[in-house]
Amino acid sequence: MLYSKFISAGLLSVVASATVVPRGLFAKDSLVRRDIVDTIISEDEHWAEANIANYGPEFFTSHLAGQNPDLLYIGCSDSRVPSDVFMNATLGEVFTHRNIANSIVLGDPNTMSVIDYALVHLNVSTIAITGHTGCGGVKASMDPEELEKSIKTFIKPITRLYQKNKSYIDALPTDAERQSFLVQLNVMRLVRLASNLKTVTERWEKGLPLVIHGLVYRMENGTLHDLNVTVSSKGQFDELYYPPLKAQGLEFCACS
Ligand SMILES: [Zn+2]
Repeated sequence: MLYSKFISAGLLSVVASATVVPRGLFAKDSLVRRDIVDTIISEDEHWAEANIANYGPEFFTSHLAGQNPDLLYIGCSDSRVPSDVFMNATLGEVFTHRNIANSIVLGDPNTMSVIDYALVHLNVSTIAITGHTGCGGVKASMDPEELEKSIKTFIKPITRLYQKNKSYIDALPTDAERQSFLVQLNVMRLVRLASNLKTVTERWEKGLPLVIHGLVYRMENGTLHDLNVTVSSKGQFDELYYPPLKAQGLEFCACS
């Protein structure tokens, strides 16, 4: 739970079987594999009933008037990185956007409309741009030739980031370290990019609070790590974080 009194009932079954890794609802080798949609409808029914039993109908009805989340989460679509689960968030707490490799692409109306809506209409005060270890999108960006055109186009900014910093990244000892470093560098690039977006800078010019964080989720142990490139005013990234990166020979633009 992030802020409210409610707990995420969906986690209770996971906690209860601490010594056994949950098999999941849709295990492909299940002896009696139910239809997936039947399964999610049935599981949702249990979840709704459990929350009403525990907290009363206001668990749902208290949200009917509208949403007022404080956090915009931008993360990867990867099924192993379910943000509301690992943040233990409940209803109304997180405005979420997930896509391939937690990207912000300037020409993409999907991502840009989510950011603009969150800032202008929901008055969100915090953005968490969150990469993750083992990201398939970041890995693919290092060798994108065989990819479908849609994916290749979408992750092109990460491919450019890799190519621009190739000598530094390729000098790292293992594939895992190279990919992990590119995940982190990409999040830093996105924090810089986000801090230059029109709706972001307008918010700062109006004196409204807004903090942008760069985070990485570690799939190895389920923990979330702060890259310490937090910005809360215009030009802060370029002033505090970019010079040390440049001094190491690393570079990226505030564009996509
Ligand atoms: Zn990913």
